Amino acid sequence: MAEINALLAGLRPLLGDDGILLGEEVSSRSAGIWRDDSVQARAILRPASTEQVADVLRMCHAAGQRVVTHGGLTGLSEGAIATPDDVVLSTERMTAIESVDTVNRTLQLQAGVRLQAAQDAADQAGLQLALDLGARGSCTVGGNAATNAGGNNVLRYGMAREQILGLEAVLADGTVVSSLNGMLKNNAGYDLKQLFIGTEGTLGVITRLILRLRPACTTRETALLACDEFARIPQLLRLLDSRLSGTLTAFEVMWNDYYSLVARDRQPLADGFSYYVLVEAQGNDSQRDSDRFLSAVEHALTEGLAADAMIAQSGRERNELWAIRESVELTLEDGPAMIFDVGLPLSAMESYLAEVRRQLRDEWGSAHRLSVFGHAGDGNLHLVVAAGDGTSAAQLRIERCVYEPLADAGGTVSAEHGIGLEKKQWLSICRNPAEIAVMRKLKAALDPRGILNHGRIFSADDEP
Ligand SMILES: Cc1cc2nc3c(=O)[nH]c(=O)nc-3n(C[C@H](O)[C@H](O)[C@H](O)COP(=O)(O)OP(=O)(O)OC[C@H]3O[C@@H](n4cnc5c(N)ncnc54)[C@H](O)[C@@H]3O)c2cc1C
Repeated sequence: MAEINALLAGLRPLLGDDGILLGEEVSSRSAGIWRDDSVQARAILRPASTEQVADVLRMCHAAGQRVVTHGGLTGLSEGAIATPDDVVLSTERMTAIESVDTVNRTLQLQAGVRLQAAQDAADQAGLQLALDLGARGSCTVGGNAATNAGGNNVLRYGMAREQILGLEAVLADGTVVSSLNGMLKNNAGYDLKQLFIGTEGTLGVITRLILRLRPACTTRETALLACDEFARIPQLLRLLDSRLSGTLTAFEVMWNDYYSLVARDRQPLADGFSYYVLVEAQGNDSQRDSDRFLSAVEHALTEGLAADAMIAQSGRERNELWAIRESVELTLEDGPAMIFDVGLPLSAMESYLAEVRRQLRDEWGSAHRLSVFGHAGDGNLHLVVAAGDGTSAAQLRIERCVYEPLADAGGTVSAEHGIGLEKKQWLSICRNPAEIAVMRKLKAALDPRGILNHGRIFSADDEP
């Protein structure tokens, strides 16, 4: 207790009174957007600049004080959950949009800027930030970088990693690594930003970023297609990708078990098909884009790759189609359910799901429900499994059914959300011992006292 008091007393003149929250100001905060518990930590530290982040980490490092970084708290793998012995470093005061460069098409900003605010800044400059996800109003660009977020535009533009040109981070000991490159090409030595992208805050705290901007799109065409056979899905993706000349942005597949549940009161296409595919293309030529989209959908029908189709005729119809895809909460209405985010090659999806279904049946008989949907064009599936009584033993049995078949499928236990605390026992399903050993070496080299997001990704025994 004396040590934490001394640490906070040392930090107060550097951060100011606004920069440190204690007691009820900590415990009255929600621990995460989808959680009903509150933050537990000795203090929440709110630096406003890179220098203040460096002060915080230098002093925490010296004191051996563990630090958990908070962005927008929308992460879904328990990466930002603190214990009562931790201090939280929140980026909530680091919200400056520093510059929009329309010549080089870049956006420089602090890590605590909300994704929506970053998108708006790009829009106002007549450009687009291609990163987009449902949590855009709450998540931060620093959190997006730390988790290498995916989202709605991955098929065309790639994940967060592809939108980040440069980045600044502070290491555990307070060293500032400013790698604020703004160029598309820079092969001079190691690309150090990659150390901090997707490493879930375990190697450093991201403080500033330079993001790549793209030309804004002015047209958006959306359709829902129905398919009877899974074998048609990769063919449909190939046909649309080539006929839409690189403008395809979304290829979202909903299995019948998901569609019939979430679209039961609003069915743009009749229930009864095995698969429903939401496709979207974005471009800049209103007449040609819609003609090309219509023609691509017609080809899909005449070539037998789709059994039925509906093209959205208005913004309202488009929103209704997306609402079906995004109504995952409806799968949680009938009792406890677990939502999974896995990745695997498109060619392995059907056999993988058959194996998951078999194992769930063996474990639970007919007393389970599985709903499947996801960014299938990116090889990313979400499975919602309702089975058992919600106890940790039941959850472990469900996790086995979902994760273990990924080994044979060549898949990953996390396509988007990271490992955090939630999935660390499953990491070895998709990462081999040599890969994990290198990850541990990096962690030990950059954070020798193990103060940053301790216990995430690896089990605690493996950390310094
Ligand atoms: C409705 C909804 C939809 C979503 N859709 C998607 C989706 O389509 N694709 C997707 O990938 N994710 C999605 N997510 C998950 C989540 O939004 C992303 O993981 C997001 O990138 C997390 O950002 P955050 O600022 O909320 O980070 P937090 O939740 O605060 O933190 C996540 C992790 O990053 C670390 N971290 C945060 N900021 C920093 C920083 N500045 N430096 C170092 N480490 C940091 C934290 O310690 C933690 O380990 C969704 C979540 C919700 C609630």
